[in-house]
Amino acid sequence: MRNFWRLMRLIAPAWLPMLGACLLALLTIAGNVGLMATAAYLISAAALYPPLSALSPAIAGVRFFGLLRAMARYLEHLVSHDATFRLLARIRIAVYSALEPLAPAVLAGFRRGELFSRVMSDIETLQYFYLKLLLPPVVALLVLGGMAVFAASFSTDLTILLFCSFASAGIILPYCLFRVGQNPVRNLSRSKEELTVVLADHLAGMRDLLSFNEAKRQMKRAAAADAEYSHWRIRTGAYHAWAQAGGNLLMQGTVSAALVLLIPLLQTRQLDGVVLAALALAIQSSFEAVLPLSTFGLYRQEACSAASRLFAILDAKPRITDDANDRKLPVHYHLSAEKVTFRYQNGRKPAIDGISFELPAGKRLALVGPSGAGKSSLVSLLARFWEYETGSIRLGGKEIRGYHPDALRDAIGIVMQDDYLFHATLAENIRLSRPSASMEEVLAAAERAALGAVISKLPSGMESIVGENGCGLSGGERRKVLIARAILKNAPILVLDEPTAGLDPLAEREIMQMIYTATQGKTLLLITHRLTSLAGMDEIIVMDRGRIVERGSQRELLAREGLFQQMRHLQNDFLATEAVQSTSLHNMFELGRI
Ligand code: ADP
Repeated sequence: MRNFWRLMRLIAPAWLPMLGACLLALLTIAGNVGLMATAAYLISAAALYPPLSALSPAIAGVRFFGLLRAMARYLEHLVSHDATFRLLARIRIAVYSALEPLAPAVLAGFRRGELFSRVMSDIETLQYFYLKLLLPPVVALLVLGGMAVFAASFSTDLTILLFCSFASAGIILPYCLFRVGQNPVRNLSRSKEELTVVLADHLAGMRDLLSFNEAKRQMKRAAAADAEYSHWRIRTGAYHAWAQAGGNLLMQGTVSAALVLLIPLLQTRQLDGVVLAALALAIQSSFEAVLPLSTFGLYRQEACSAASRLFAILDAKPRITDDANDRKLPVHYHLSAEKVTFRYQNGRKPAIDGISFELPAGKRLALVGPSGAGKSSLVSLLARFWEYETGSIRLGGKEIRGYHPDALRDAIGIVMQDDYLFHATLAENIRLSRPSASMEEVLAAAERAALGAVISKLPSGMESIVGENGCGLSGGERRKVLIARAILKNAPILVLDEPTAGLDPLAEREIMQMIYTATQGKTLLLITHRLTSLAGMDEIIVMDRGRIVERGSQRELLAREGLFQQMRHLQNDFLATEAVQSTSLHNMFELGRI
């Protein structure tokens, strides 16, 4: 019931068109009743061969009601659907606005398909609330009122019959169908969401599934989810068919019962014979108002399930409280962290454990350490994706949570490991960080990120589509595009998270050189687990298991027998082996043996 009132509150701004749609629906049914009644009267009266002039009012009536019905029906559909789709658009925007602050901390708890399903099909389902749940009962009540008054002028029994029939078709039948259809409808929504989740998973992981020969198994999973969805679709389809059949049966039963009540009135001359058929057809056509109610219970269940899933998103509390209104940029760009501690919700040990560092404006700091040391978590804190528990992170002397997120993001440009490239042109992907940038500025940023060779290689240069998540580019090229995006943003502080991860040594060196050149004069925080090309950094902080274990310049760290030196030796050995392997492969190619 709470969901019902919340949906009602959402509809409140559209009350005027909704009221209009209600009146138009009423007019449609009045037109239908009038049309059928005058047509039946006309046929009955014509059977007695009266002069044509005596039939003229009835002929005019048929024309009038025929036109009225058609026009009112058209306008009712136009107004109610227009108002409904506007409302759905508003709900979609509300849900999307609620999603944004939840990313990524809370949204990590949802599966991707689940979110698709909620934002797309659950919102679509809400149209039932307005079109099939809200309007029909109001219209049915008003029609019943009108018909009861009309029938009372002929017979009180007829009025009672109408009340009983409307109650059976509008309350008892929908209630029974609701009771039996409740679970199937709920299962239908659940299985639809499950199918979307499985398909979204399948599409996202298609490459891995193919390379591990798992595609068939995943197909079976999708087929099973599809079979379940189809099963519940058929079951609920059957209930909808029962609803229609039951409604029609009640309508015909009511007409027959009305005839049983009215025919005796002909003998006592309380009713004129030519009116009998008109009355019977008027009663039959008034059922148009109550027939849509037979599926009320089924649609109600569907709409309420969809609403509760959507409200779960709207009610989710962001982990970050964005109540700071200060949109002013910092007075200076000195970044510092002091005893920062942070743990993920499901983590027993802190991912960041008492980290402190200073990064003066224009300096370069590298955060290095083995995988799982907490480097990316620290970047997430700077991006305000998560909230740190204790300690402080300050920018320009002020706690970062004191800045409005937009101001903070203007000050710090962050390139995360898994940043996304959209299925759009290269230029559009770079321009994402500053949509107002001119083409010259985009090109300049691309040049600084050493993308010149890539652009000349692509068929349409900057206008080439890069594919979903840059699937048309190599790993190194993707990184360059992401860095070009950050360069275009021109934020005073640049944070790069693993810009060379997964690249071969040559590409790695090229990217590092490009980073040094492109970030001249800027503050740079570089997160990496590769320890090559770090000579240009002013300070290197070595992290392990959430803590700082060493710090200093590259030369100082290499002079110590610490983690940095150990990791560096290991990496050198690894690189040497790789170099030997690639040289021997190269030689084999040369000799034509491969
Ligand atoms: P690094 O970037 O140094 O490889 P991370 O910051 O990614 O390390 O991870 C630090 C620790 O936090 C690891 O133990 C990792 O398992 C954990 N962790 C990272 N992301 C999440 C997450 N979203 N939820 C829970 N734990 C996480």
